[in-house]
Amino acid sequence: MIMKITRNSTRAVRIGNITVGDGNPIAVQSMTATKTQNIDATVQQAEAYRLAGAGVVRVAVDSDKDAEALGEIRRQTTANLAVDLQENFKLAEAVAPFVDKIRYNPGHLYHHQREKPWQDKVRFIIQQAVDHDCAIRIGVNCGSVDPAKKAKYDPEDSITPMIESAIEHCEFVDSLGFTRYVVSLKDSDPSKVVEVNQRFAQLRPDVPLHLGVTEAGMPPDGIIKTRVAFEQLIGRGIGDTVRVSLTLPNDRKPEEIAAGREIVDDIYSGRVRSVVKFDDKALNIISCPSCSRVENEAFIDLAQSVKEMTQYAKDYEITIAVMGCRVNGPGETDDADLGLWCGPAKVNLKRGTDALGAFGYDEILPRLKQELDAIIQTKSLA
Ligand code: SF4
Repeated sequence: MIMKITRNSTRAVRIGNITVGDGNPIAVQSMTATKTQNIDATVQQAEAYRLAGAGVVRVAVDSDKDAEALGEIRRQTTANLAVDLQENFKLAEAVAPFVDKIRYNPGHLYHHQREKPWQDKVRFIIQQAVDHDCAIRIGVNCGSVDPAKKAKYDPEDSITPMIESAIEHCEFVDSLGFTRYVVSLKDSDPSKVVEVNQRFAQLRPDVPLHLGVTEAGMPPDGIIKTRVAFEQLIGRGIGDTVRVSLTLPNDRKPEEIAAGREIVDDIYSGRVRSVVKFDDKALNIISCPSCSRVENEAFIDLAQSVKEMTQYAKDYEITIAVMGCRVNGPGETDDADLGLWCGPAKVNLKRGTDALGAFGYDEILPRLKQELDAIIQTKSLA
């Protein structure tokens, strides 16, 4: 049975040689996990994504050398490329000539407001996009919302500050006369992804949405979490591009594209697996999809080992986050009961927002188990 889905009538946004929104096919995206300066490996992975059907491929750029490498990568692949500016809005100038889309996160622009208000930073980014024929993604992430926005609402309400931030930026970018942008609102909790995107789509049905569940983890759980969110959103006509973020070794990363296509195709064919449920009352392991910022390749194996070692706690409502780097690891683990983020030689362990220290890769599992046992004991006594 083909499912009749009436898509939201979003505006068309061209990204390189594809167009998203306005009823165009839902584009599937991914991100390279190779070291960006390893040009051969990065080109090879970008091409593998493109051949698997990726509409856009994001590349991490953290330094001038990465930006230089990006120029060469651009010459060697026909994939539509994107870069995330992270905390460095000025990077837009160096990368815009080589990419088709620039992502900025409103939650990264509020620093040093007095010297340079966020509006000036956005103006700068948009000017680079105009000068170099780029689209923009305004990417709001639950882990990095402007603290001033969060302070206005109940600490339990993580969704309203995200929406307020996205709407504010859309209105500002519109006021600059620039409409070639999409928005993303991501969280690691599929039900929050559904709610935040539904509420945004009601307020701005014209703006194309890029959907994703962050740090979804390893397959099959990561695919299930993502499917739960996408079925509810795409089935209601919401979503113009998607990413399935999976923790996978480099040679298996194109599976993200295959998973995204399969979910979208299934929804359109009516193969909606409402029977597939993500049990948010059970142990939840979230882990990032990895990217060039990973400093120790052992991260992927560690994520897998954490999943296996913690199975004995599967019936407890506990979240464990495993992140691959020091850039996003410390912040993205704040909401988990136990968080691990990987450095070059040590793994940092947190319980909630409290840092418990850094441990060798061969020491971390028993240390994690100790903390997990302590949490289980507290829950059993409650
Ligand atoms: Fe990359 Fe770090 Fe995010 Fe993982 S947490 S995807 S390594 S930036």
